[in-house]
Amino acid sequence: MSEAPHLTFDLDEPGMTKGYLVVPKGADCEALSLPVFSLNRGEGPRLLITGGCHGNELEGPIVARRLVEWLPEAQTCGRIIIVPVLNPPAVQAWSRNTPVDGLNLNRVFPGRANGSVTERIANAASRLLLPMADTVFDLHSFGPTWDFPPATTTHPIADPALMAKTIKMAEAFKLPMTLVWESVDTAGMFDTLAQNQGKVFVCPEFGGGNVNSEALVIYEAGIRNALIALGLVGGKAEYPTFRQRKSSQTLETRRSSDELKSPAPGIFEPRCSVLDEVKQGDLIGTLYPMDSLTADSIDIRAPGTCIVYAIRSGAHVNIDEGVALVARPLIR
Ligand SMILES: [Zn+2]
Repeated sequence: MSEAPHLTFDLDEPGMTKGYLVVPKGADCEALSLPVFSLNRGEGPRLLITGGCHGNELEGPIVARRLVEWLPEAQTCGRIIIVPVLNPPAVQAWSRNTPVDGLNLNRVFPGRANGSVTERIANAASRLLLPMADTVFDLHSFGPTWDFPPATTTHPIADPALMAKTIKMAEAFKLPMTLVWESVDTAGMFDTLAQNQGKVFVCPEFGGGNVNSEALVIYEAGIRNALIALGLVGGKAEYPTFRQRKSSQTLETRRSSDELKSPAPGIFEPRCSVLDEVKQGDLIGTLYPMDSLTADSIDIRAPGTCIVYAIRSGAHVNIDEGVALVARPLIR
């Protein structure tokens, strides 16, 4: 029998304590020790913050580490558990999936005690961390080949009360966009597991492009706003400035129909910016096929009135690959 996942310290200790979440070794790799920070100020909301679920999304781990610096002073009540990196092998490899077994951690929850390493991480987090929280912020990023505004996201939830509560929490970050997106494969998501247990689960999606200091200030401000809304820290929530604007909007999108695809292989040039509202026929971008002497560029136009929330930047695209994602204001 294999060793059970465990914590090397007692989460119930008052004040700031730290230690490791030990994910037992298996046939594919040695045991992992994930740093865990526990900030316990007694009664109040119980929050779990995780980063580094996907290894090529590094904003979350950075923001989580920054929180560990200032939260012990600022926190007034409740309990906060911070795990900056949930998937160390993936972060070390700068890879979305875990290199050891090729699995996407956010598709294998609740995991398996005797499974491969990704499943063992999911199992340890599900058994030892999730039960300690009523609210979860799982910090993700949109990745380096897209322009994407700082956002919080959630998926449609069957229980209307939990949906409303989740949207309210997501909006409390006051980031430029709150997005409810329909996802085709929600099985095995950390979100789904937590929501099935009645917990509020918000996925901040921290931008596209590369890690940069200006964007990190916005992300950290978003988390601070959410902590203020929960009553875990004092202060006044404020909209961070994103591209000269201090505003926020709540949108919904369908992954199956709201993706504009490239009509040919080539290089995509964005012709609008994220959060631009466009009308039917407006130019969204231009595709330059690079393999032909005669081919003209191809314009990609808006299918109707919508808001462009993600746009491809800086990567060659294949035919039928997404180049822009659009959404509409959420109807409640
Ligand atoms: Zn992610």
